[in-house]
Amino acid sequence: MSDQTPDTEQTPMITPSDVLEHVWCPRFTWFMNVQNIPQHEDKRFKVLKGREVHQRRATENRDYLRRKIGAVKREVEVYLASPSQRLRGIVDEVLWLKDGSMAPLDYKYTEAPDTVFKTHETQIVLYALLIQSVYQQPVTRGFVAYVRDGSQLLEVDITDERIARARWLIGQIFDIIRTGRLPARTSSRLRCEDCCYKNICV
Ligand code: SF4
Repeated sequence: MSDQTPDTEQTPMITPSDVLEHVWCPRFTWFMNVQNIPQHEDKRFKVLKGREVHQRRATENRDYLRRKIGAVKREVEVYLASPSQRLRGIVDEVLWLKDGSMAPLDYKYTEAPDTVFKTHETQIVLYALLIQSVYQQPVTRGFVAYVRDGSQLLEVDITDERIARARWLIGQIFDIIRTGRLPARTSSRLRCEDCCYKNICV
């Protein structure tokens, strides 16, 4: 695999999780990267992560999902880094499809919604951007498998608009890091109630 700029040691890169936190509230980016105040993960989060790992093992052999998608090859838990997109992350599965394109597949251990949750859509688009950039292959679709209580496979179209929004979000994050500018608060004040920064966020 290759990316146009191979200096993964030197180029600052962020992860899809960083982007999702930024979407949740742009001030997370500022507290973590400008003020260097990390979020503290509470016990509940760790318990959830442990459960997720257990559930992941139980779903590793879901070959029928990949057959349904039309995948001819897959790699599991793939670390990808794209200095040109300033993005790095681990993709649950990278798939090679019959039509010559590639696609990310991500497992979610929540009940299946009617349509892909917006945060999951953003995450899949970021994975698609990574795959496109690293493998230099077309990525027109991504997939989210909701595997709690059975499984439901939902597809995400990887459109130019979605890729452009993902790049724009990455640009916003690096602008905050570069300038140190304090961004606006989240538009949903409900999010502040459980926020670990609420006592220092003015
Ligand atoms: S308290 Fe609210 S505005 Fe401040 S960082 Fe937390 S979620 Fe964002």
